[in-house]
Amino acid sequence: MSRSFHTEGIVLKNYRFGEIHKGVVFLSPREGLVDAVAFGAYSPKGKLRSVTDPLCTGTLYLYRDPVKGLVKITDMDCRSCFPGIRESVRKFFHASVFLETVLKTFGGEGPFVYRLLVEALTLLEAMPEERLTEVLVQFLFRYLAYAGVAPNLELCTTCGRERSNREPMYYRPGGVELYCRECSHPEDGVLPPGGVSYVQYTRSLPLVAALHVRLEETSLQALKGYLLSCMQSLSMGSLKSLRTAEGFL
Ligand SMILES: [Zn+2]
Repeated sequence: MSRSFHTEGIVLKNYRFGEIHKGVVFLSPREGLVDAVAFGAYSPKGKLRSVTDPLCTGTLYLYRDPVKGLVKITDMDCRSCFPGIRESVRKFFHASVFLETVLKTFGGEGPFVYRLLVEALTLLEAMPEERLTEVLVQFLFRYLAYAGVAPNLELCTTCGRERSNREPMYYRPGGVELYCRECSHPEDGVLPPGGVSYVQYTRSLPLVAALHVRLEETSLQALKGYLLSCMQSLSMGSLKSLRTAEGFL
Protein backbone atom coordinates (compact mmCIF):
# COMPACT_ATOMS: atom_id res chain seq x y z
CA MET A 1 0.00 0.00 0.00
CA SER A 2 1.19 3.49 -0.82
CA ARG A 3 2.38 5.54 2.13
CA SER A 4 0.18 8.47 1.17
CA PHE A 5 -3.48 7.71 0.77
CA HIS A 6 -6.88 9.23 1.32
CA THR A 7 -10.20 7.87 2.48
CA GLU A 8 -13.69 8.90 3.48
CA GLY A 9 -14.12 8.98 7.22
CA ILE A 10 -16.06 10.16 10.24
CA VAL A 11 -14.23 11.15 13.42
CA LEU A 12 -15.39 9.18 16.47
CA LYS A 13 -12.99 10.29 19.17
CA ASN A 14 -10.11 12.62 20.04
CA TYR A 15 -7.41 12.28 22.65
CA ARG A 16 -4.34 14.29 23.55
CA PHE A 17 -1.05 13.06 22.12
CA GLY A 18 1.85 14.95 23.68
CA GLU A 19 1.36 18.67 24.34
CA ILE A 20 -0.22 19.91 21.12
CA HIS A 21 -0.91 16.83 19.04
CA LYS A 22 -4.32 15.29 18.67
CA GLY A 23 -5.10 11.60 18.47
CA VAL A 24 -8.01 11.08 16.08
CA VAL A 25 -9.91 7.80 15.86
CA PHE A 26 -12.11 7.66 12.78
CA LEU A 27 -14.22 5.14 10.91
CA SER A 28 -13.50 4.64 7.24
CA PRO A 29 -15.70 2.46 5.01
CA ARG A 30 -12.61 0.84 3.51
CA GLU A 31 -10.06 0.88 6.35
CA GLY A 32 -12.40 0.28 9.30
CA LEU A 33 -11.36 1.95 12.57
CA VAL A 34 -8.19 3.99 12.15
CA ASP A 35 -6.16 5.55 14.95
CA ALA A 36 -4.32 8.54 13.48
CA VAL A 37 -2.46 11.62 14.67
CA ALA A 38 -3.08 15.23 13.67
CA PHE A 39 0.23 16.85 14.53
CA GLY A 40 -0.08 20.33 16.02
CA ALA A 41 -3.88 20.19 15.96
CA TYR A 42 -4.18 21.36 19.58
CA SER A 43 -1.98 24.40 19.01
CA PRO A 44 -3.97 27.66 18.60
CA LYS A 45 -3.07 27.99 14.93
CA GLY A 46 -3.19 24.29 14.00
CA LYS A 47 -4.94 24.02 10.63
CA LEU A 48 -6.48 20.67 11.61
CA ARG A 49 -7.75 22.03 14.93
CA SER A 50 -11.50 22.22 14.28
CA VAL A 51 -11.91 19.88 11.30
CA THR A 52 -10.83 16.77 13.23
CA ASP A 53 -13.36 16.91 16.09
CA PRO A 54 -15.83 14.08 16.71
CA LEU A 55 -18.63 14.03 14.09
CA CYS A 56 -16.47 15.72 11.42
CA THR A 57 -17.11 13.81 8.19
CA GLY A 58 -15.28 14.05 4.90
CA THR A 59 -12.11 13.05 3.11
CA LEU A 60 -8.99 12.45 5.18
CA TYR A 61 -5.55 12.73 3.58
CA LEU A 62 -3.14 10.43 5.36
CA TYR A 63 0.46 9.36 5.50
CA ARG A 64 1.47 5.99 6.90
CA ASP A 65 4.87 6.12 8.59
CA PRO A 66 6.07 2.50 8.63
CA VAL A 67 9.08 3.29 10.85
CA LYS A 68 7.13 4.91 13.67
CA GLY A 69 4.05 2.79 13.02
CA LEU A 70 1.91 5.92 12.86
CA VAL A 71 -0.83 7.14 10.57
CA LYS A 72 -0.59 10.89 10.22
CA ILE A 73 -3.43 13.15 9.05
CA THR A 74 -1.92 15.62 6.58
CA ASP A 75 -5.22 17.29 5.69
CA MET A 76 -8.95 16.88 6.05
CA ASP A 77 -11.65 18.09 3.72
CA CYS A 78 -14.54 18.22 6.21
CA ARG A 79 -17.87 18.12 4.37
CA SER A 80 -20.03 18.24 7.48
CA CYS A 81 -19.49 18.53 11.20
CA PHE A 82 -23.22 18.24 11.97
CA PRO A 83 -23.73 21.69 13.55
CA GLY A 84 -27.40 20.89 14.21
CA ILE A 85 -26.33 18.01 16.46
CA ARG A 86 -23.72 20.04 18.35
CA GLU A 87 -26.24 22.80 19.07
CA SER A 88 -28.71 20.46 20.79
CA VAL A 89 -27.73 18.79 24.06
CA ARG A 90 -30.14 15.90 23.50
CA LYS A 91 -29.04 15.32 19.90
CA PHE A 92 -25.42 15.50 20.97
CA PHE A 93 -25.92 12.80 23.62
CA HIS A 94 -27.76 10.56 21.15
CA ALA A 95 -24.91 11.01 18.66
CA SER A 96 -22.38 10.22 21.42
CA VAL A 97 -24.05 6.84 21.94
CA PHE A 98 -23.86 6.13 18.17
CA LEU A 99 -20.16 7.06 18.01
CA GLU A 100 -19.17 5.16 21.14
CA THR A 101 -21.13 2.07 20.06
CA VAL A 102 -19.08 1.93 16.86
CA LEU A 103 -15.86 2.77 18.67
CA LYS A 104 -16.25 0.00 21.27
CA THR A 105 -17.89 -2.77 19.26
CA PHE A 106 -16.91 -2.33 15.60
CA GLY A 107 -16.25 -5.75 14.10
CA GLY A 108 -15.25 -5.17 10.50
CA GLU A 109 -18.43 -4.32 8.57
CA GLY A 110 -16.90 -1.02 7.40
CA PRO A 111 -18.97 0.02 4.39
CA PHE A 112 -22.32 -0.90 6.01
CA VAL A 113 -21.62 0.63 9.39
CA TYR A 114 -20.17 3.79 7.84
CA ARG A 115 -23.24 4.33 5.68
CA LEU A 116 -25.59 3.58 8.58
CA LEU A 117 -23.75 5.94 10.93
CA VAL A 118 -23.63 8.88 8.51
CA GLU A 119 -27.26 8.39 7.50
CA ALA A 120 -28.44 8.08 11.11
CA LEU A 121 -26.55 11.25 12.09
CA THR A 122 -27.96 13.14 9.10
CA LEU A 123 -31.49 12.15 10.12
CA LEU A 124 -30.81 12.84 13.80
CA GLU A 125 -29.71 16.36 12.89
CA ALA A 126 -32.96 17.02 10.99
CA MET A 127 -35.32 15.28 13.43
CA PRO A 128 -37.53 17.24 15.86
CA GLU A 129 -36.35 16.86 19.48
CA GLU A 130 -39.34 14.73 20.51
CA ARG A 131 -38.58 12.03 17.93
CA LEU A 132 -34.94 11.23 18.66
CA THR A 133 -35.74 7.90 20.35
CA GLU A 134 -36.94 6.50 17.03
CA VAL A 135 -33.60 7.32 15.39
CA LEU A 136 -31.78 5.71 18.33
CA VAL A 137 -33.88 2.53 18.14
CA GLN A 138 -33.48 2.25 14.36
CA PHE A 139 -29.74 2.84 14.55
CA LEU A 140 -29.16 0.30 17.33
CA PHE A 141 -31.27 -2.46 15.80
CA ARG A 142 -29.62 -2.09 12.39
CA TYR A 143 -26.21 -2.00 14.04
CA LEU A 144 -26.94 -5.28 15.86
CA ALA A 145 -27.93 -6.82 12.52
CA TYR A 146 -24.65 -5.72 10.88
CA ALA A 147 -22.76 -7.08 13.88
CA GLY A 148 -24.44 -10.43 13.21
CA VAL A 149 -26.21 -10.60 16.57
CA ALA A 150 -29.73 -9.40 15.75
CA PRO A 151 -32.29 -11.28 17.86
CA ASN A 152 -34.80 -13.67 16.35
CA LEU A 153 -38.11 -11.77 16.56
CA GLU A 154 -40.20 -14.67 15.30
CA LEU A 155 -39.16 -17.62 17.47
CA CYS A 156 -38.56 -18.14 21.18
CA THR A 157 -34.86 -18.85 21.84
CA THR A 158 -35.60 -21.67 24.30
CA CYS A 159 -38.60 -23.60 22.95
CA GLY A 160 -38.55 -22.42 19.32
CA ARG A 161 -42.26 -21.61 19.34
CA GLU A 162 -43.41 -19.01 16.82
CA ARG A 163 -44.68 -15.72 18.26
CA SER A 164 -48.25 -14.73 17.45
CA ASN A 165 -48.99 -11.08 16.65
CA ARG A 166 -50.48 -10.23 20.02
CA GLU A 167 -47.71 -11.75 22.13
CA PRO A 168 -44.96 -9.79 23.87
CA MET A 169 -41.40 -11.12 24.04
CA TYR A 170 -39.02 -11.17 27.00
CA TYR A 171 -35.29 -10.55 27.40
CA ARG A 172 -32.68 -11.13 30.09
CA PRO A 173 -30.69 -8.06 31.09
CA GLY A 174 -27.26 -8.53 29.51
CA GLY A 175 -28.55 -10.76 26.71
CA VAL A 176 -29.80 -10.20 23.17
CA GLU A 177 -32.00 -13.34 22.90
CA LEU A 178 -35.79 -13.12 23.14
CA TYR A 179 -38.14 -15.58 24.84
CA CYS A 180 -41.85 -16.40 24.94
CA ARG A 181 -43.91 -15.90 28.10
CA GLU A 182 -43.66 -19.57 29.13
CA CYS A 183 -39.86 -19.55 28.88
CA SER A 184 -39.42 -16.12 30.51
CA HIS A 185 -38.02 -15.48 34.00
CA PRO A 186 -39.68 -13.17 36.53
CA GLU A 187 -36.83 -10.60 36.30
CA ASP A 188 -36.89 -10.42 32.48
CA GLY A 189 -37.60 -7.19 30.61
CA VAL A 190 -40.72 -7.10 28.41
CA LEU A 191 -41.05 -6.03 24.78
CA PRO A 192 -44.72 -5.23 24.10
CA PRO A 193 -46.23 -6.84 20.96
CA GLY A 194 -46.37 -3.44 19.21
CA GLY A 195 -42.64 -2.95 19.71
CA VAL A 196 -41.75 -6.36 18.27
CA SER A 197 -44.06 -5.85 15.27
CA TYR A 198 -42.62 -2.37 14.69
CA VAL A 199 -39.08 -3.76 14.35
CA GLN A 200 -40.27 -6.67 12.19
CA TYR A 201 -42.01 -4.24 9.86
CA THR A 202 -39.37 -1.48 9.69
CA ARG A 203 -36.10 -3.45 9.74
CA SER A 204 -36.02 -4.04 5.98
CA LEU A 205 -37.15 -0.50 5.05
CA PRO A 206 -34.63 2.20 4.19
CA LEU A 207 -33.84 4.15 7.37
CA VAL A 208 -35.57 7.31 6.21
CA ALA A 209 -38.76 5.36 5.37
CA ALA A 210 -38.64 3.50 8.69
CA LEU A 211 -38.74 6.84 10.49
CA HIS A 212 -42.10 7.62 8.88
CA VAL A 213 -43.61 4.68 10.78
CA ARG A 214 -44.88 5.81 14.17
CA LEU A 215 -44.89 3.75 17.36
CA GLU A 216 -46.60 4.58 20.65
CA GLU A 217 -44.39 5.80 23.48
CA THR A 218 -44.60 2.78 25.82
CA SER A 219 -43.39 0.33 23.18
CA LEU A 220 -40.75 2.79 21.98
CA GLN A 221 -39.33 3.21 25.49
CA ALA A 222 -39.34 -0.57 26.02
CA LEU A 223 -37.45 -1.09 22.74
CA LYS A 224 -34.94 1.58 23.70
CA GLY A 225 -34.34 -0.09 27.09
CA TYR A 226 -33.86 -3.47 25.45
CA LEU A 227 -31.50 -2.22 22.72
CA LEU A 228 -29.36 -0.19 25.12
CA SER A 229 -29.08 -3.29 27.30
CA CYS A 230 -27.99 -5.26 24.19
CA MET A 231 -25.31 -2.66 23.46
CA GLN A 232 -24.00 -2.73 27.02
CA SER A 233 -23.65 -6.49 26.74
CA LEU A 234 -22.05 -6.29 23.27
CA SER A 235 -19.51 -3.75 24.57
CA MET A 236 -19.06 -5.72 27.82
CA GLY A 237 -20.39 -2.82 29.84
CA SER A 238 -17.90 -0.31 28.49
CA LEU A 239 -20.27 2.31 27.02
CA LYS A 240 -19.58 5.38 29.16
CA SER A 241 -21.86 7.60 27.08
CA LEU A 242 -24.89 5.69 28.38
CA ARG A 243 -24.13 6.86 31.91
CA THR A 244 -23.27 10.46 31.00
CA ALA A 245 -26.27 10.69 28.67
CA GLU A 246 -28.73 9.38 31.25
CA GLY A 247 -31.69 11.73 31.39
CA PHE A 248 -31.03 12.98 27.85
CA LEU A 249 -31.82 9.79 25.94
ZN1 LIG B 1 -40.47 -20.45 24.69
